[in-house]
Amino acid sequence: MTETRTSTEDGLLEIAEKQAALGEVRGTPAADPVNIPMIRHWLDAMGDTNRSYLDKGIAPPAMAQVWTMPGVRRGAKDRSPVDDVLAALDAGGYTGVVATNCEQTYHRHARVGERLTPATRFSGLSGPKRTALGDGYFATWNVTWYGEGDEPVAEMMFRVLKFRPRRRRESPAPATGAASPVAATGPVTAARPASYPLRPAQNRDTAFFWEGVRQGELRVQSCADCGRLRHPPGPVCPSCRSANRSYVVARGEGTVFSYVVHHHPPVPGRETPFVVAVVELPEGVRIVGNVVDCPPDAVGIGMELRATYRAMDDELILPMWAPRES
Ligand code: ZN
Repeated sequence: MTETRTSTEDGLLEIAEKQAALGEVRGTPAADPVNIPMIRHWLDAMGDTNRSYLDKGIAPPAMAQVWTMPGVRRGAKDRSPVDDVLAALDAGGYTGVVATNCEQTYHRHARVGERLTPATRFSGLSGPKRTALGDGYFATWNVTWYGEGDEPVAEMMFRVLKFRPRRRRESPAPATGAASPVAATGPVTAARPASYPLRPAQNRDTAFFWEGVRQGELRVQSCADCGRLRHPPGPVCPSCRSANRSYVVARGEGTVFSYVVHHHPPVPGRETPFVVAVVELPEGVRIVGNVVDCPPDAVGIGMELRATYRAMDDELILPMWAPRES
């Protein structure tokens, strides 16, 4: 087989090899030591009621990255071996990004008062590969957080796909970033030339949800034994560990619990900016979805919403959220 590589590919692999050869590069120590207020906020945001972290003065292991997350205004000292590779991918037209893998290993609890220092090792670039999102490269790196006595506290392997977003085809979507509404029930008849590139994962655990969406219903999984509702769907009840599942049909109303306005990076098939919200249902679970039919700056915490079902292409319907008329 003849290897035909372009100069862009050669350049990318060269930068990746150079960064990998640097080995582990120490970053800037955390701006603040591990502290109780931050732990309290985290527990609150996660809905974690376990008091032992606060009582013992230790941080939840999953907070590892929190302590050393660089701010919005990053200085040159915050650069890691990963940045040059990602910048080169951007320059090569691979501007789309999606995280594909994250594995964390916890060695011990970080203790209140200790200051963590991250160290980053760029471990590889593979590609170009053809994926459903477009052609791209998988970039992998590892971060180790060191605490007092230079002890590793936690490690993380992180992998992203940097891809060249596909050109949007004819029939651009409306400015809200959503496709046109369809009737809450009944078949989708509008012909759509483009195939929406991001398909939700549908499997035995989630099939009932997507079947409901096709029928204009918002279904929430319930435990067939204790009745507790859960979302996203899963194989086992977190309350009683029963594997017997059922579902209820939600009223299709909710309020904005939290949200972000997505401006960048580009998302295949979507027009930015668009709003991604965590929607709290009166039934007691929260669902992530897009807020449509209003400008992003009109969205706020507590905003009342109703579910709406949007045809993304000939096959796919996604549940979204629109302002609820009073
Ligand atoms: Zn149960």
